[in-house]
Amino acid sequence: VKKIAVLTSGGDSQGMNAAVRAVVRSGLFHGLEVYGVQRGYQGLLNNDIFPMDLRSVGDIIQRGGTVLQSARCKEFYTAEGQEKGADILRARGIDGLVVIGGDGSYNGANKLSKLGINTMGLPGTIDNDISFTDYTIGFDTAVSVVVDAVNKLRDTMSSHERSSIVEVMGRHCGDIALHAGLASGAETILVPEVPFDMDEVADRMKANFAHGKRHSIIIVAEGVGRGEDVAKELMERCPTYEPRVTVLGHIQRGGTPTPFDRNLASRLGDFAVRSLIAGETDKGCGIIKGELVLTDIDKVVNTKKDFDMNTYELAQRLSQ
Ligand code: ATP
Repeated sequence: VKKIAVLTSGGDSQGMNAAVRAVVRSGLFHGLEVYGVQRGYQGLLNNDIFPMDLRSVGDIIQRGGTVLQSARCKEFYTAEGQEKGADILRARGIDGLVVIGGDGSYNGANKLSKLGINTMGLPGTIDNDISFTDYTIGFDTAVSVVVDAVNKLRDTMSSHERSSIVEVMGRHCGDIALHAGLASGAETILVPEVPFDMDEVADRMKANFAHGKRHSIIIVAEGVGRGEDVAKELMERCPTYEPRVTVLGHIQRGGTPTPFDRNLASRLGDFAVRSLIAGETDKGCGIIKGELVLTDIDKVVNTKKDFDMNTYELAQRLSQ
């Protein structure tokens, strides 16, 4: 490859900018021409493509969001849209594309690769739901945001001996709830991967208050249901502890990325460029057990990552 482009797609995540920076600077270092595509696949179809130089990615490693902006694009689901995208890239002589986003975005990249464009997918999503990597870019920052919020909630919940229900992101993947729950000492973690019984949740809370706890934190991944609904059910079972609900929402997707996310993004961005130069295509770039790993996109799109039951059980054991 001689000319590559980079785009961000789907929901944004902290660290996407660090990944864009790594792709641009690594590409230039290796003598490639590097282009940015504004607003994901929509920008590609609008030919919103511009050259990027070293300075164009200055002062962004510490910023949340994405300077390339993100978008959803209906037209790109169609074969005509995909062909148009490939034609636009070819007309500019761009033969490599790095796509930073989630599962849907790799589906798009996969289609482009079948049309002759070399593609690499980088895991840019807070959900940690991508099976070709142990950690996605943005996940660590999102967990930090949740832990910070729970720290604050604990202070006020202890003063009033109340329980706190914190609804976090994760429609299909409970990793944010799990990791934030373990780190913040949550008593109960409700995730879509593990069935639970609300009577048991209530009994556990009562028992913990009875043996001297002054607060109770329940973390609910949005895939389980709304925090308000969990509160209603708990209120019916043990009204004494008046559950209060906090929905963290998009706050989890913002803010400055943690050093972990910046470093992950930097390593993966550089790896994507080196992989394209080595002639690889249609791959997801991840880190598994500390090693940089390429995985065929065909093998991973629409597959589900295994849930870490050991950590889930540990969190339960430690929060008595
Ligand atoms: P997240 O789930 O974190 O928001 P995502 O990348 O999964 O990220 P999607 O909205 O599913 O987000 O996908 C982003 C874009 O990728 C879509 O708007 C569409 O343009 C393109 N895309 C998704 N799925 C396909 C597909 N099957 N074929 C072609 N393009 C697709």
